[in-house]
Amino acid sequence: MTILVTGGAGYIGSHTVLYLKEQGEDVIVLDNLQKGHKKAVLGVPLYEGDLRDEKLLDNIFSKHTIDAVIHFAANSLVGESVEKPLEYYDNNVLGSYQLVKSMVKNNVKKIVFSSTAATYGEPTSIPIQESDPTLPTNPYGETKLAIEKMLRWSNDAYGLKSVCLRYFNAAGADPQGRIGEDHTPESHLIPIVLQAALGQREHVSIFGDDYQTEDGSCIRDYIHVLDLAQAHYLALKKLEETNESGVYNLGNEKGFSVKEVIETCRTVTQKEIKAVIGPRRAGDPAVLIASSEKAKNELGWNPQYPDLETIVTHAWNWHVNHPSGYQSKQYN
Ligand code: UDP
Repeated sequence: MTILVTGGAGYIGSHTVLYLKEQGEDVIVLDNLQKGHKKAVLGVPLYEGDLRDEKLLDNIFSKHTIDAVIHFAANSLVGESVEKPLEYYDNNVLGSYQLVKSMVKNNVKKIVFSSTAATYGEPTSIPIQESDPTLPTNPYGETKLAIEKMLRWSNDAYGLKSVCLRYFNAAGADPQGRIGEDHTPESHLIPIVLQAALGQREHVSIFGDDYQTEDGSCIRDYIHVLDLAQAHYLALKKLEETNESGVYNLGNEKGFSVKEVIETCRTVTQKEIKAVIGPRRAGDPAVLIASSEKAKNELGWNPQYPDLETIVTHAWNWHVNHPSGYQSKQYN
């Protein structure tokens, strides 16, 4: 199979590219490198450009025989999306619209889409099932849900088959340490705690300890980035075999509080890591835990690294060896 991966220089995208290569697939990456890293794209062609560039997309589709697209390219920060909703509609919705339009025009009929648990908003029950209500509480979730709906209608109208994967909290890094997580500025919990362990931050702020949870801090379901990569591959296989569209949650079905994550990081790193209670972050639901039964049953998904300590260990290996991320000397 020849697969076009949009956003393949980003965190989840680059790990998926590596995984696909290891399964023997041909991969082409399209990334505008706004957030992605050239150095994260290992051994596959990289088109540097934007999804909203119609000519570039048509050029890629006519130059290569693409069997399927995996679509990661997007802005993905909840807080930022509340401050800059139009940027999210522009990049996420317009970018995806352009991609789908070019796919239809060039007769490419399979897409795996990077969606999110943020499509659910405040959950009505835990664990969250795919059939639960989708009422996003921020523009990030709204744009992802709008794209899911565009794909659903495009299925009916154009026969474009899609699998939408709703990730919970992606974490960890390549177990072999070749690539990892590098955002500037960093906003995700585990890399922030590990930066504190490295002495790059004075402390970690716990965003609220007055939630209705056992220790008062928010609970999330952390899933290894390579297990996400595996799910994308399985989703493509399913599209090939059954030609049926679908929506799947991807999480470990187990919740950890912010305080528990920090404690796990202390255990793994053997560092003290100072934590300070801060105010709540706007738009944070108290508890998000997936039911992933559907992905396990229908895709045959079988997470390899479900244990939080393993996830943090892989992330820590990357951070210790690349304290400046892709700016570290190993990449120069
Ligand atoms: N969080 C925190 N301090 C930080 C960053 C995150 O307490 O410096 C909390 C955040 O409120 C959420 C959890 O950690 O409950 C995971 O946040 P992250 O940004 O990693 O992922 P999200 O859940 O937003 O996708």
